[in-house]
Amino acid sequence: MVHIEIDSKSGFCFGVINAIKKAEESLTHEDSLCSLGDIVHNEQEMARLSHKGLHAINHDELATMRGSKILFRAHGEPPSTYDLARENGIEIIDASCPVVLVLQKKIKKAYTEQPNAQIVIYGKKGHAEVNGLVGQTGGNCIVIEHKEDLNTIDFTKDIILFSQTTKSIAGFNDLVKTIEEKLVPPAQFTYHDTICRQVANRIPNMHNFASRFDIVLFVSGVQSSNGKVLFKECQTVNKRSYFISTLDDITDDMLQDAQSIGICGATSTPKWLMESIAQELDKRLNK
Ligand code: SF4
Repeated sequence: MVHIEIDSKSGFCFGVINAIKKAEESLTHEDSLCSLGDIVHNEQEMARLSHKGLHAINHDELATMRGSKILFRAHGEPPSTYDLARENGIEIIDASCPVVLVLQKKIKKAYTEQPNAQIVIYGKKGHAEVNGLVGQTGGNCIVIEHKEDLNTIDFTKDIILFSQTTKSIAGFNDLVKTIEEKLVPPAQFTYHDTICRQVANRIPNMHNFASRFDIVLFVSGVQSSNGKVLFKECQTVNKRSYFISTLDDITDDMLQDAQSIGICGATSTPKWLMESIAQELDKRLNK
């Protein structure tokens, strides 16, 4: 009998669960609904929601839309998007994650109350959440993605540092240390660790989980950046870790001699997908 277990800590974070719930609620009394960007980076979940009537549009399409409804996903949006929707008479279903909204408010407060300080955001340039954060300063902030970006900071002036919610804690701590070393007194440096633990805690959890099985099937969409990061973490503790998106990706070679199989996934992997893979494997291997 092959032991098959799903990681209880894998799957959507509460921000994404909340956004999907809001979309599904709206679709119980509407035939269709637009979301600004994909609600989640997973092809199967997007197909399931699309079947219910959800479809994603981009900011250019929002600009030409009139008098309809739009769902803002968990990443949040800058104030300019709210303004655009209102100007076009579009009703907003705001599914921005509460954690992101709190961070947006903190950045806005720092920017308004300390106009002479440089607001620095540790994050990925152009990422939807980061665009929403940058918008709180009207674009007057510095985004640090790589070490090379540090030369855009003036170390003789005050610095207030925040982080995109999904960045790594180690990377943030490194950045704090570097800024402290480079700071030229009397300039002041304050920092806010605004990394969401829903994601940050997944790495130690993943290590514990993946090390317990003969093989690990990591389920994720190929587009998911979080999926790529977490899969690498699986591989560091279990050499027989395999990246799959659907049941069809599983080969006999992967399963060879495995007496225990761990199934886990990214923050964008739906629970129902991991469950259906586990059920099919159980049928196949434990007849
Ligand atoms: S990762 Fe955290 S901040 Fe981001 S959507 Fe999920 S719960 Fe919200």
